[in-house]
Amino acid sequence: MMLKVSDVKQFLYCPRVVYFTYVMPVPRKVTRKMEYGKEEHLDIERLERRRKLRSYDLSGGERRYRTKLRSERLGVEGVLDMHIVCNSGCFPVEFKNTSRRPGLHHKYQLVSYAMLLEDQYGKPVRQGYLYLTPGKRIYGVEITPNARTFVRRTLDKIRMMIARESFPPAPRRPARCFECEYRNYCADVV
Ligand code: SF4
Repeated sequence: MMLKVSDVKQFLYCPRVVYFTYVMPVPRKVTRKMEYGKEEHLDIERLERRRKLRSYDLSGGERRYRTKLRSERLGVEGVLDMHIVCNSGCFPVEFKNTSRRPGLHHKYQLVSYAMLLEDQYGKPVRQGYLYLTPGKRIYGVEITPNARTFVRRTLDKIRMMIARESFPPAPRRPARCFECEYRNYCADVV
């Protein structure tokens, strides 16, 4: 079964979001944050074209935007916000609209994209970046063997949850439910 990179992020944020996507699809509200996110991506791409690659500790390279990636080996596909291709390799970059430090779900989404890039280019990817748009801050993320294993295990867990149709528990942090578009379907937490 072909999964999406965003499923890895969502599953680590709250596995029920993935359950509501594949096992029991329900209509969901389009929030203002989602609408705003789409417009903001276009602005970031415009600004990013003027930014120096030194911000990524790179002396040169070519930026590629909104790249469709697909790995038959991993059974995953997705659209990567940006990646930089240069002599020393290629580097995935994901834009995030958050003023907090990036969460683990953001990190492993980026690692998943790194794994898809490896399949696309046939070269190892050792480093990626999360670009936090509110403060224009960039966080480097090392793409380690352990991180790759964690992504593979997460994909296995997602597939198992879908195959067994098992309703997962809510996240430990109730704050995650406040702005969730699936709130109406989780009577036990709201
Ligand atoms: S409301 Fe909470 S438990 Fe339900 S899907 Fe959203 S984050 Fe998960």
